[in-house]
Amino acid sequence: MRVLVIGSGGREHALCRALADSPSCDGVMAAPGNPGTEQVGTNLTLDPADADAVQAAVNEHDIDYTIIGPEAPLVNGLADHLRAAGHPVMGPSAAAARLEGSKAFAKAFMAEHDIPTATFRTFAANEADEAHAYITDRPVPVVVKASGLAGGKGALVCTTREEAHDALDRIVDDRDFGEAGDQVVIEAFMEGDEASVFVLTDGEKYVVCPPSQDHKAIGEGGTGPNTGGMGAYAPTPLVDGSTLTAVCRTIVEPTLKGMSEADTPYQGVLYVGLMLTSDGPKVVEYNCRWGDPEAQVVLPLLDNDLATLFQSVAEQTLSGVHVRASAQSCVGVVLASQGYPHSYDTGVPIDGIDQAERMPGVHVIHAGTRRTDDGTLVTDGGRVLCVVATAPDLETAVERAYDGADAIQFDGKTLRRDIAHSGLMAA
Ligand code: ATP
Repeated sequence: MRVLVIGSGGREHALCRALADSPSCDGVMAAPGNPGTEQVGTNLTLDPADADAVQAAVNEHDIDYTIIGPEAPLVNGLADHLRAAGHPVMGPSAAAARLEGSKAFAKAFMAEHDIPTATFRTFAANEADEAHAYITDRPVPVVVKASGLAGGKGALVCTTREEAHDALDRIVDDRDFGEAGDQVVIEAFMEGDEASVFVLTDGEKYVVCPPSQDHKAIGEGGTGPNTGGMGAYAPTPLVDGSTLTAVCRTIVEPTLKGMSEADTPYQGVLYVGLMLTSDGPKVVEYNCRWGDPEAQVVLPLLDNDLATLFQSVAEQTLSGVHVRASAQSCVGVVLASQGYPHSYDTGVPIDGIDQAERMPGVHVIHAGTRRTDDGTLVTDGGRVLCVVATAPDLETAVERAYDGADAIQFDGKTLRRDIAHSGLMAA
């Protein structure tokens, strides 16, 4: 079969690599892809925001199904467009993708279905006075969020009320997050460890992947500003079997049932961002796609033929399908550009990927790279590469990932040295 992957980041390289390794996959295409996806498939030059162009490519290349990687085309209805033309898709409709695209929608949905999450209130941008009054009554820390998509930067955790009032002003008066700030969600701060659970669902049946943990902050120990994610590992011992069962019963099942009952069945990958509180697991957020960099460490742990597994999701034939999780551990360490998540240079030459990939259990995922006209690989983004290592145990996977990371050189290479330490401590 032939599969098209929409997107150009590390997550999409990880997906293309996994598909290319599947015995049932004859060809994988990425649109627009990156130098990593080009090594395992064919890159198509097209704009994922142009639904007609994507549909034309699906027809032209005889694609069996399409996986939509990033959230923006999902929220904008690319899956609906392709399905209406009769093409199977792994990815939710625009209506179902509101679970990520609108925090106001997601929180109201959770309240309606008794799904555990932080207590909250939602305000329109023109209700700033009421929102300020609400903050005045709330204990701190408190979290102030722009409701719409804000590239992972729209959630402001505030330790004082003054900070929370400022955060609200930034969202509704200064419009720092543009239209994403048309509504604001103000919610209670939850204490605990964070973890990510990915569910593959065809709208009715679902299967669960090994739980993972991301490291969002730029600095070690979770310090400094949040990024797209500086590394991840799976499985995380923070989510044991009974916690995972509780997550399925109290979060995943009511979410899928609620979406179906609203005539907006959720079909694709559902990412449940969890806070493991002393009162049990609660939802921090839903995402409507694979996480990045979690996909890089979860996919290598699925022993199924992934092209067939994903096809069951896209074609709604997941009944009777099971995930076969490997007994290994997987760690991904992101190599970022100096200055990220603020401004950084691009076009910096990269060396040592071949050397890293010769190490046992190590492979390298491209996120922000490009080839110059003379074929030199250079940096082209904040997050440049993710060095991924699998091993029989977490400790060895960590060692291998850092050996691989140290073998790669580019000026300004920035990484966290504590990826998966929380998992090692909890094991
Ligand atoms: P992204 O899509 O990049 O994951 P986002 O902008 O959609 O981020 P959230 O995931 O809701 O925003 O929040 C980002 C981070 O802020 C969370 O991963 C968590 O660390 C922190 N956070 C958000 N809400 C809460 C909360 N209620 N209590 C404690 N921490 C929170």
